[in-house]
Amino acid sequence: MKRPPRQNQDLMEAITSCPHSINNDEIRLSFDPRAEGLNALDQLARRVEAALSSRSAESGKLAHLDDIAVDRFAAAMKAKLAKKRAEGRGGWDDPEQCHIDYLHQLLDDQFHARAVLDPVDIANLSMMIHQREEGDGAQSTSRCPICAEPFKDDDLCAADITEGTCHAACLEGSPVVDLETGEPTAGPASTFRFAETESTAEGSTNG
Ligand SMILES: [Zn+2]
Repeated sequence: MKRPPRQNQDLMEAITSCPHSINNDEIRLSFDPRAEGLNALDQLARRVEAALSSRSAESGKLAHLDDIAVDRFAAAMKAKLAKKRAEGRGGWDDPEQCHIDYLHQLLDDQFHARAVLDPVDIANLSMMIHQREEGDGAQSTSRCPICAEPFKDDDLCAADITEGTCHAACLEGSPVVDLETGEPTAGPASTFRFAETESTAEGSTNG
């Protein structure tokens, strides 16, 4: 089987990244005691495998059917919105003109007052509600700076020295530092429920 040129290049890089010496008639691979592997051949095999699997993981990411379908669906949504604009409709994004409850009512009507469901109309109303709720709630809803999900009262949180309050799970794997000194510390970060942040935020600086 003929390999694509990029793959050949990756393989060459995998081989030459092993400690080696090359002269006119031989390539000699050496064992690297700092790298994983049992001997020079094992280390070479690991590097080749990693080069091949990273390449195939990359090509698998190209364009998933899901993403293609969402793009097509978005195009259908945009076409429907443009048609409605041409008919003089609009104002969904303005709380003065359009109460959020009205959008919920329209979405509800789609399900209960229509003989045939129209996925594009349902999607457009869902989009409007989604966008409005992101905007309307911006002041009142605190979000985790890492995953951007709104906090729920019983979420387990930890304080990050640069990001502030985050989900404990989102911080997992980052180094634990003392929030007073910034020095790395051993042991798990202290955690708390999100509901406790309102009452403890003021008091915690006093120790
Ligand atoms: Zn999070």
